[in-house]
Amino acid sequence: MLAVAKIKQAEASVGVIDAPSPTLSPGHVLIQITAAGICGTDMAIYNWAPRMQSRIDVPRILGHEATGKIIGIGSGVQGLEVGDRVSLESHIFCGICHYCRRGDAHLCEHLGYPGISIDGGFAELVSVPAQIARVVPQNIDDNTAAMIEPFGIAVHACMSQRGTAGKTVLVNGCGPIGLMTVAAAKALGARRILAVDPNPIRLALAKEFGADEIVDPTSIDVSTTAKRMTGGYGVEVAIEYSGVPSGLDSVLASLERMADLRLVAGPAHPHALDVNALLRTGLSIYGIHGRRLWQDWDLGVKLLEERKVDLSALADPVLPMSRALEGFEAVNSGRALKPILLNQ
Ligand SMILES: [Zn+2]
Ligand SMILES: [Zn+2]
Repeated sequence: MLAVAKIKQAEASVGVIDAPSPTLSPGHVLIQITAAGICGTDMAIYNWAPRMQSRIDVPRILGHEATGKIIGIGSGVQGLEVGDRVSLESHIFCGICHYCRRGDAHLCEHLGYPGISIDGGFAELVSVPAQIARVVPQNIDDNTAAMIEPFGIAVHACMSQRGTAGKTVLVNGCGPIGLMTVAAAKALGARRILAVDPNPIRLALAKEFGADEIVDPTSIDVSTTAKRMTGGYGVEVAIEYSGVPSGLDSVLASLERMADLRLVAGPAHPHALDVNALLRTGLSIYGIHGRRLWQDWDLGVKLLEERKVDLSALADPVLPMSRALEGFEAVNSGRALKPILLNQ
C-alpha cells in the first residue's frame, strides 16, 4: 500500500513508499484512511528536531491526525462496527496508570502515538487500538474530520481552568491550532479576542475566525494593544503558542492581575522568568497537553457538527497522499495552513 514514512534518521528523509498492509491484531481496528493532516509533530520529525530524534525507529509511517472508515474489527473490540466513520485521537493511553485511573488519560505515564510509537495514518490503511478511534458525525466533512485532534487542543486551551466565556483573550501565535483557538474562543463566548502572529495570511484568517484585533508583533507592541483593548489592565486569559522567548515575555506583559496563562507551546530552551514579579500579580500558569478525554474532544465535535465553528478554510494545501512531500515543504516555506493528504 502507499504510505508516507520517515525512512532514515536524518533531516527530511521522508518518502512516499510501498509498505506492507497492516494486519489486524486483538483490540485493534483496521481503518481505510480518507484524509490526514500534517501536524507540527510531523514537521518536527521531518525537520529532525532534537526532541524527536530518540523517539522514532525507521521506517515509520507518519501521521496521527487522520480520518477514515473501519474495514476490520479485531477480537475483543466493542462499540465499533465495520463501516463506522472515525477520526483518530493521537494519545494511546494505558488505562491503568495513576493518571488514567483518575480520569486524566491525556497525561498517561505510558502514552503511545500513531506516527511515532506505531505506524500512523499517512497510508491507505492503518491499524490502531480501538480506544483511539472515535465515531464522527456524518455532517462533518473529511478534511475537517482530520482536524478534530488538533481542534481538541484548542478546545482544551479554551475550556481549561476559568474558560474563555465572557473574557478578554489573547491568542499568541496563529498557526493552525492558534487559529482553531480563536474560532473556539469565539464560539465559546469570549468577549474580546486579540490574535498575534507575524504572518499576514494567518492574521487575515484570525480576523475571519473571530478575532476583534490582530497584531503583527514585529511592527506593533502586543502588550500596548492588549492594554488599550482592556481599559489599561491587560487580558484575563492568554494562550501561548509562539514558542519563542520574546513571545512569552510579551504575553506576560499583556496580562491583568489574577490572569490565566495557558501554555500550549514553550521556548526550545529554558527561559528565565522573574517569579517574584509574577507571584505578586496572582498569575495562574497552566500547561495544556492534548485533549481531556473525552470532554474536550466531544465538545469540539459538537461545535463542528452544530456549525458553531467552521475550520474548512484551514485545509490548505489539499493534496493526494502521493504528493505528501509538497505538503511538508509548503509548511516549511510558510505558505501552508494545515496540509491535508487525501487517500484517493
Ligand atoms: Zn497533531
Ligand atoms: Zn495510563
